[in-house]
Amino acid sequence: MKGNTYVPIGNHEKVLMHICCAPDASYPFLYLKGRHYDVTGFFYGPNIHPLREYELRLNEACKLAQIVGMPLIEGEYNINKWFELTKGLENEKEGEKRCYLCYEERLDVTAKLARGKGFDYFTTTISISPHKNSEWVFEISKRLEEKYGVRFLQVDFKKHDGFKYSIVLSKFYGLYRQDYCGCTYSKIEADAYRKSKNS
Ligand code: SF4
Repeated sequence: MKGNTYVPIGNHEKVLMHICCAPDASYPFLYLKGRHYDVTGFFYGPNIHPLREYELRLNEACKLAQIVGMPLIEGEYNINKWFELTKGLENEKEGEKRCYLCYEERLDVTAKLARGKGFDYFTTTISISPHKNSEWVFEISKRLEEKYGVRFLQVDFKKHDGFKYSIVLSKFYGLYRQDYCGCTYSKIEADAYRKSKNS
């Protein structure tokens, strides 16, 4: 399935947008708002470790929400469920199967909440990162549309320099940008990479 690059102008349909971190949400929020969608953020990140990092990213999401005027919902920080889900995949690299399950879990909770709260669509900021597999996001979300009966607003936010715009906006808003994806395994991988570059 090819990622779309065009999202039709909306008519103030309600969108629940899963947020992985504030910098990644900066451009998607403005993009969808500019296309006349009413966006509510859903910060959901049981994959973010340790707790102080989770709290830091949550605070930044609240800061962004205040700056841009975005309603924000915080999801449950169910870290035990996340570790159970990814058991046995500790040594996988970023971009491998553990990430597929991690996307799936976060999207599932988002779609379920969107359905429960009567949103017209769900979507996610995951697709803005050049390190993230948008095809997986779309494939999973299409399944979830069927499962929960709520539409997925398919946007590959990294297209048309979306990621670059998010960097500019994050600096403008003074948002903290982390240097690893989120889970403890991605931190180990990122730290090892930085160490190898410096040695
Ligand atoms: S690297 Fe990122 S996407 Fe992959 S499992 Fe860890 S937190 Fe999830």
